[in-house]
Amino acid sequence: MSSLLLDNIGELVTNTAAGEGPLGIRRDAAVLVEDGVVAWVGPSGDAPAADQRLDAESGAVLPGFVDSHAHLVFAGDRAVEFAARMAGEPYTGGGIRTTVGATRAATDDELRATARRLHAEALRQGTTTIEIKSGYGLTVADEARSLRIAAEVSSETTFLGAHLVPAEYADRPDDYVDLVCGPMLAAAAPYARWVDVFCERGAFDADHTRAILTRGQAAGLDTRLHANQLGPGPGVQLGVELGVASVDHCTHLTDADVDALVGADGTTVATLLPGAEFSTRSPYPDARRLLDAGVTVALATDCNPGSSYTSSVPFCIALAVREMRMSPSEAVWAATAGGAAALRRTDVGRLAPGARADLMILDAPSHLHLAYRPGVPLIRQVLHNGEPQCRP
Ligand SMILES: [Zn+2]
Repeated sequence: MSSLLLDNIGELVTNTAAGEGPLGIRRDAAVLVEDGVVAWVGPSGDAPAADQRLDAESGAVLPGFVDSHAHLVFAGDRAVEFAARMAGEPYTGGGIRTTVGATRAATDDELRATARRLHAEALRQGTTTIEIKSGYGLTVADEARSLRIAAEVSSETTFLGAHLVPAEYADRPDDYVDLVCGPMLAAAAPYARWVDVFCERGAFDADHTRAILTRGQAAGLDTRLHANQLGPGPGVQLGVELGVASVDHCTHLTDADVDALVGADGTTVATLLPGAEFSTRSPYPDARRLLDAGVTVALATDCNPGSSYTSSVPFCIALAVREMRMSPSEAVWAATAGGAAALRRTDVGRLAPGARADLMILDAPSHLHLAYRPGVPLIRQVLHNGEPQCRP
């Protein structure tokens, strides 16, 4: 058994009732890590002996970010499409087909290299848990291999065969849904924890979404949903009805959608992805409306090559505070404990005995600096399962 004592912490964000305010902040605290797990949190004067010591140098210590929505298995990039959009072309989601073509043509090693590179990039920026979706293969073999590669990088893997109807099924979408519910689900399920659907006009309607999520549940997968991103739609209420863990985007909501999320009482989280609105120059979701109504809100990157090519949770926190009127505390909670709730995890997103020793040390005295100093690399060290990830 190896132990490590983290002390000289400027501010410890625990996300538990053991500290002050919504983030459970403790001062003059120390954290003992044993075998990758938090073994003790308490006043530094009472800290037990440990094999090693890590000095936080008065920096803030937070739980690692839990990025509950990312698409990391793909080939190619869409920088030219981004530039055209910034010059005025609207985002329709159709560019996904460009990535599907490149992904199908790529080798396993090419897909693996990209997923690993993005995973490492996210880890350096404090993300210690990341969900990874398939959805750029859209054939039985390509979805299965996408998930096989995703599972090499993360245990939070999501089958998104229903990302878009591929071109070869454009005039017979029902046949594609049958493929997704049948052989594609069967091939994907061994590598997936979750099933997801892009429920949106131009992608999959309510009947398709219900069929795919229900079949996914029957195959032993838990459910989540892309909903109400590009316009109003049935996704949020359907997601709550089916008990999905999270409805993601939530950009266009009616009062009935918000009421449904309130009624879900945290069982279904609203995950906001402001990187997508930033990168498509679209109006941001109304986070205040959700928070003031009492909805559980998560923040995630939606990292993908088309509509949000960022792996940076700190960037999303800055956007949430500046553009969506979340307080810095609300944004940090949403990116840690909120993300954990969106993945139905209790072992991450908080720092308390029994939690995984996934945390970050900031080159700043307070979590406020994540929004206050946008674009600045403030994360000095990341511990994942208790192991330091960055060189001193
Ligand atoms: Zn997405």
